[in-house]
Amino acid sequence: MNSIYDLTLEDMEKFFLDNNSKKFHALQLFGWLYEKRVNSYDEITNISHEMIDKIKNNYSIERLKIVDIQEDIDVCKYLFELFDGEHIEAVLMRHDYGNSICVSSQVGCNMGCKFCESGRRKKVRNLKTSEMVLQILMIEELLKERISHVVVMGIGEPFDNYDNLINFFKIINHPKGLAIGARHITVSTCGIVPKIYEFSEFPLQINLAISLHAPNNEIRNKIMPINKVYNIEEVMKAIKVYLKKTNRRVTFEYILLKGFNDSDECALELAKLVKNVNCYINLIPYNETNNIDFHRTNTIQIMRFYDILKKNSVNVTIRKEFGSKISAACGQLRSKKEEL
Ligand code: SAH
Repeated sequence: MNSIYDLTLEDMEKFFLDNNSKKFHALQLFGWLYEKRVNSYDEITNISHEMIDKIKNNYSIERLKIVDIQEDIDVCKYLFELFDGEHIEAVLMRHDYGNSICVSSQVGCNMGCKFCESGRRKKVRNLKTSEMVLQILMIEELLKERISHVVVMGIGEPFDNYDNLINFFKIINHPKGLAIGARHITVSTCGIVPKIYEFSEFPLQINLAISLHAPNNEIRNKIMPINKVYNIEEVMKAIKVYLKKTNRRVTFEYILLKGFNDSDECALELAKLVKNVNCYINLIPYNETNNIDFHRTNTIQIMRFYDILKKNSVNVTIRKEFGSKISAACGQLRSKKEEL
């Protein structure tokens, strides 16, 4: 059965109209779910019993199960069990500007990036919209605190689950939904070019991040198989269209891998690649995992790389690290669980 949390406000309006009821009940139902946070249909008072029964027969209101929580000072990781017994994770990060959550978009991932733990397990299925919405809703309830920022950077490739992702954005952004401002939402993709074009038409001002991780095709081909389908030139072409249409900035993520993509030459080549592109580069210190033979660049070289970009007028930041102690980065908890 589908979940009531799969439905955008427009979907609910359609449901009421299709059942010879009134459109405005959709907004009431949205209010019960996202403002009053009911977890049973029986608590709803201003919609007829007949309509509630119809909703009950079509959509479940059940939540997911949280089966493990690991906490550190400014980070907390939640392992969710889905209705079919699969596991996904979400990570809460406490920033000085608010609480941010990193959500997963798929069970497993087919992109096969060589440095990434999540990709070691092939995609089992896409997450439904409800399974993404519930990650946020349930963590908010547990914390009794508001989540102000969302990044879709957990397990999975969000642009490989595009339609569910878009509905998820509509629900969490809606003022009567979770009311998270579009500018506080970021989606990260490994570079599925047709979807970048499609996303440039999407009206909400959601931030786009691209996992670049290399300044040229030769290096990128070695770590990201998607580059053989959509190479750097095609990604950059799509980004330029996105920037023109949306008048926004894009973020390029660049994991620094020791002796692989972290040389001074790479920094210079990267600066050249993004010259005249309205962007930030986010340098990511690599989170080492037991199963993968890449290593973290040392801090001195990270700073050199950063300085070279700065000197070449690139907007660059180094990602603040969360949760390496509790293996909160990139699929590690879930893969531990599945190895048991
Ligand atoms: N599939 C999407 C989103 C999920 S990954 C994407 O590729 O962007 C989110 C980010 O974490 C990506 O930039 C990814 O490359 C990065 N990442 C994966 N494994 C990592 C690791 N071990 N250390 C640091 N960053 C990692």
